[in-house]
Amino acid sequence: MRVSATLTQIVPIALAMLGLGIASGHAQLLSEDEVERRMERAGLQEDTAAPAAPSVSRTPADWRERLSAEQYRVLRRQGTERAFTGAYHDSGGEGVYRCAGCDAVLFRSEHKYDSGTGWPSFWAPASRHQVGLRPDRSLWRVRTETVCASCDGHLGHLFNDGPRPTGLRYCINSAALRFEPAGEEVSDEAAPEEESTSDS
Ligand code: FE
Repeated sequence: MRVSATLTQIVPIALAMLGLGIASGHAQLLSEDEVERRMERAGLQEDTAAPAAPSVSRTPADWRERLSAEQYRVLRRQGTERAFTGAYHDSGGEGVYRCAGCDAVLFRSEHKYDSGTGWPSFWAPASRHQVGLRPDRSLWRVRTETVCASCDGHLGHLFNDGPRPTGLRYCINSAALRFEPAGEEVSDEAAPEEESTSDS
């Protein structure tokens, strides 16, 4: 009798703790596997291999020299630009959005949408490998931070309330991005090295 009485006390407490764990934000954390599943369901093809590790490494002094004060604050100090102030929150045009720190292709214009938040928003990354995810427990909540996989620069956060077909919302600081209009690609692994001879 005593054992079952103890169990009837412990089980509700354990369930409540589990519930609190979920309610306090664990359910908001998104994994790279989850992103991969959603991209596959949306029919998005992976065309970029995973960077094995951040390949661009600089000292804080180097970064300060290469970046503007705002880019440094966002990319290297996990800063957030004020809503509706960035260069790309309501920008359009076809092209790719590169990392302002290292030039890696992070997002594509065809996945950009107006989320109404005041930050550039995308429902998919250019490659799930290029936009790394990690838990961010600052500000008394749990969010999914997004980082550039090549230079480890802070980009913004990933949320679960995006539009179809993935339901993802990459909420990104303009300061972390550099837009490159289609047709003006600089050669690298994500852009063909040969000049296109298409006559379109
Ligand atoms: Fe980068």
